[in-house]
Amino acid sequence: MSKTIIIGSGVAALQCARLLPKDEDIILITKRALRQHSSYFAQGGIAAVYSKEDSIQSHEDDTIQAGVFHNHQSNVQTLIQEGQMQTHQLILEGFPVDRLSDGSISLGLEGAHQHKRILHSGGDATGKHLTEHLINLLPSNVTIFENECAVSLLKNQYGRVIGIHSIDADCTHRQIFAEAVIIATGGCGSLYSYTSNCTNSFGDGIALAYLAGAKITDMEFVQFHPTLLYHDEQTFGLVSEAVRGAGARLINSEGTYIMDWHPLKDLAPRHITAKAVYDERMRGIDVFLKIDEIENFEGKFPTISNNCKKAGILLNNGLLPITVGSHFLMGGILTNSYGATSIEGLYAIGEAACTGVHGANRLASNSLLEGIAFGKRLADHLSNKNPEVIDWQVVEENFENTHPTSFAIEDLQIEMFASAGIIRDKKSLEFLLKKIDSTKLNPFKLTFSENEAYFMRITASLIVKAALEREESRGAHIRADFPNASPSLAQTIFVQQIQNPIQKEYWHEPIKA
Ligand SMILES: Cc1cc2nc3c(=O)[nH]c(=O)nc-3n(C[C@H](O)[C@H](O)[C@H](O)COP(=O)(O)OP(=O)(O)OC[C@H]3O[C@@H](n4cnc5c(N)ncnc54)[C@H](O)[C@@H]3O)c2cc1C
Repeated sequence: MSKTIIIGSGVAALQCARLLPKDEDIILITKRALRQHSSYFAQGGIAAVYSKEDSIQSHEDDTIQAGVFHNHQSNVQTLIQEGQMQTHQLILEGFPVDRLSDGSISLGLEGAHQHKRILHSGGDATGKHLTEHLINLLPSNVTIFENECAVSLLKNQYGRVIGIHSIDADCTHRQIFAEAVIIATGGCGSLYSYTSNCTNSFGDGIALAYLAGAKITDMEFVQFHPTLLYHDEQTFGLVSEAVRGAGARLINSEGTYIMDWHPLKDLAPRHITAKAVYDERMRGIDVFLKIDEIENFEGKFPTISNNCKKAGILLNNGLLPITVGSHFLMGGILTNSYGATSIEGLYAIGEAACTGVHGANRLASNSLLEGIAFGKRLADHLSNKNPEVIDWQVVEENFENTHPTSFAIEDLQIEMFASAGIIRDKKSLEFLLKKIDSTKLNPFKLTFSENEAYFMRITASLIVKAALEREESRGAHIRADFPNASPSLAQTIFVQQIQNPIQKEYWHEPIKA
């Protein structure tokens, strides 16, 4: 039996694992290799207040403005204040941020930020360097299991989570018991045909928590990124917003700068730029990032330059072909400010969790910050927790059906993009929901990949149900049949729980105007 199991190996998981007490048994399991996750591929950087002109207040204001005032205000304060302190701590511990020739930290600009505040490392390889830095800091009490997928949560007769059931690539099943189970499984970009995420981001942790009875919220808020490198109907990774921060412009094949109408132009919030690119592409018009005015592009953005080479896109044309793709989930497992879910013994951090910090649309580069800030908060909480007497007897579950209906993952991805993507409406959402089989299956009877497909369907159905429920447009959730925000839905979150598919809840504090 272990003290803590952490599911996932991204920034949130690693930050928490390294800060938990060093005399306790900690298990970290990840369904792919240790370095295969969104965190590793993060490009732009970490948003944190560093310049003299900037302030914590300004970063909070930008976060809430980008989140269209749907944010949980006190958690935003926690994110910005504690995130800044923890980022500084990482730098003191040797995290190699890029610096200017005078030794000061080089700060980039990204969309909807009033100030330059994006710390980066290796140009556009921030996630890689941050991941390596955190892995180096892992103490020896953390045991890592790679290629092992968590497929269900174990609960006792009191409904407390007491461990996990996992499966490896050889279909070997095992139960692992622990006092605390932490879900740090990231987002669900792979529910869509075009995504910036790794191919296996199916929202497993959200499905696991939902199936165990935890509260899930804000699933209608899926962020689409406006600039995925696009060639021959395929995408080749992200072109970070930092490229527009360095001067690139969005231009269509007719020669029109498509963001000229917005006061922030190409650095408008992401849901606005993504919709603008999508609208052009729906008209059959190609869209490009015009990069010819950026000096030393390859030196500043080595990862993106390399992706261009792989795709056969020539940098010296000065135009990068782009399209939109799913990028980030603002919703997830409902947690409090230190990661506790609605189930005792179960915690969630990082993109899988929903503390309300991102509101209806995440501010660029606030996600690595979230992993750093909330990973630390949960580690502190668990370190100070009083010992408990726990009943370790597992209560076995009943399942309606043990045979998965076969379906092609690619078909669901295409349908999600078409019907629950950037623009939604009642008719197409209802049609899609009828097609998604979310029957509760016995995970022990499924293979590794069947479990992933099962989680994919559960998470997809949570998004579709939430998108149907919110009859308005707000932030990243755009309904063609309800194009305006509804005042009666302001500050309202929709919560899904297995016994009660959709219930409405309200933040119990004012959201700052
Ligand atoms: C290309 C790209 C660029 C980005 N750039 C930035 C940026 O510049 N700045 C920024 O702030 N954010 C950026 N983001 C967003 C940010 O990277 C992610 O939101 C963040 O890293 C998520 O971290 P995480 O620790 O929550 O999860 P992840 O890093 O996604 O890790 C999830 C982990 O969970 C594991 N896992 C999942 N399911 C299971 C299971 N069933 N069993 C076991 N393990 C499981 C995965 O294998 C993985 O190890 C970017 C995202 C992408 C995709």
